[in-house]
Amino acid sequence: MSDMNYDLIIIGAGSGGVRLARMSARRGARVAVVESRYLGGTCVNVGCVPKKLFVYGASVSDELGDAAGYGWKIPMNEVSFDWPKLVANKNTEIERLNGIYQRLLENAGVTIIEGTASLKDANTVIVGNQTYTTRHITVATGSWPVVPDIPGKEYILTSNEMFYLPQLPKTAVVWGGGYIAVEFAGILAGLGVKTTLIYRGELFLRGFDGDVRRFTEQEMRKKGINLKFGVTIDSVEAEDIHYRANLSTGESLTTGLVMGATGRRPLIDGLGLSELGVGLDESGHIVVDDHFQTAVPSITALGDVIGTPQLTPVALAQAMVLSRRLFGDGQGDMDYAAIPTAVFCQPNIGTVGFTEEEARVAGHRLRIYRSEFKPMKYTLSGRDERCLMKLVVDDETDKVLGAHMVGPDAGEITQGLAIAIKAGATKAQFDSTLGIHPTSAEEFVTMREPVA
Ligand SMILES: Cc1cc2nc3c(=O)[nH]c(=O)nc-3n(C[C@H](O)[C@H](O)[C@H](O)COP(=O)(O)OP(=O)(O)OC[C@H]3O[C@@H](n4cnc5c(N)ncnc54)[C@H](O)[C@@H]3O)c2cc1C
Repeated sequence: MSDMNYDLIIIGAGSGGVRLARMSARRGARVAVVESRYLGGTCVNVGCVPKKLFVYGASVSDELGDAAGYGWKIPMNEVSFDWPKLVANKNTEIERLNGIYQRLLENAGVTIIEGTASLKDANTVIVGNQTYTTRHITVATGSWPVVPDIPGKEYILTSNEMFYLPQLPKTAVVWGGGYIAVEFAGILAGLGVKTTLIYRGELFLRGFDGDVRRFTEQEMRKKGINLKFGVTIDSVEAEDIHYRANLSTGESLTTGLVMGATGRRPLIDGLGLSELGVGLDESGHIVVDDHFQTAVPSITALGDVIGTPQLTPVALAQAMVLSRRLFGDGQGDMDYAAIPTAVFCQPNIGTVGFTEEEARVAGHRLRIYRSEFKPMKYTLSGRDERCLMKLVVDDETDKVLGAHMVGPDAGEITQGLAIAIKAGATKAQFDSTLGIHPTSAEEFVTMREPVA
């Protein structure tokens, strides 16, 4: 052991890699982390953080619209928006976070190696012309956006480029039906871009509760977002300063940009995993067991690259488990049940636990509680936006299996509900909880009559 350079080399300083590095170093391991692009990975640089900052930026337009009803006089013809300024301020904040990540790692005693890593053998990592030996290697290299191979694919921007767009166009086409597509459609529309979302399926946000999907569709249409379902893009052409998106229906859309949010693939290029005997599934994700162990005993993997739910808190939790397994008491398991999640469209979606559809497929006899209302804030402002709340309850045990919301602060509200659901709370316990008045959230403890 002692003739190895390190106890652990982690490839990728993203959400999972940084957490694993810090936790393992704290347990006394000699740790190095190799990073090719940016400390903090996708989440900090081209994911959760800049996305949420853009969402805040976009939601100001709604707030400005609300102001008049509360007596504020804002001459709307004098209001303007400076996109380069938002991007520059976002970049400054990301650089600050990169610095924090660097200090967190250094203060924990982790060696940061800049460069692109590949594996020479089961205990040797190559970066540039250097080789490093190590007892354990963890691959935490994340994922990368992919767009379908269509003519004009080179004109399609992914989320990576959207964060650095030099100018905001007047019109945009967003291609995709997952949460990243929906969030970017909301950001663009909120910033005044005439936005069309194209999705080949019947309805976007597959995997979310059916009521949530339909309600979000209705609210997004009210905001003027042109949603086209059951359609795909066959090709994209460049025309002067515009693009032409040719749809499967024969229709063509002239647009200032086409964004593809059509999926992500595991980032394993050039690592040399297969050559060493590390198994990959058909979509290229690294195959691991319940304890993140690949087919090669010294190599583990976690985060987006193993195909578990692609969320930062999932990668963080996996890192905690793996660090404990490698350098702690060797115990601990990952619990994937009831992972709460949010979609930061306008209004936000918050969701935790079973959807109604999942619960029915799992064989539960259900009581469904649902409430739809206009949030108090919009009574004076006149904003045409409604809120949906829904509880999925097992009729036999009275357990709340799932909670879903579309409305202001849904992400914030759902985080609290996730604790109750994780703890196995019953509907009777929800009912005996006093509300906080006046809030939207109190509706979750005052829904009395099942609708189904
Ligand atoms: C637009 C967008 C919005 C998102 N919003 C949210 C959100 O709101 N909430 C949420 O929970 N999740 C969100 N996510 C998902 C979240 O960002 C990821 O699930 C998370 O970052 C995964 O962490 P990771 O450690 O697996 O990989 P990453 O964070 O991607 O880190 C992998 C790192 O490995 C590096 N790397 C890759 N190959 C090599 C190599 N060969 N050598 C050296 N370094 C290498 C990469 O440069 C990268 O820094 C979002 C993602 C996107 C794209």
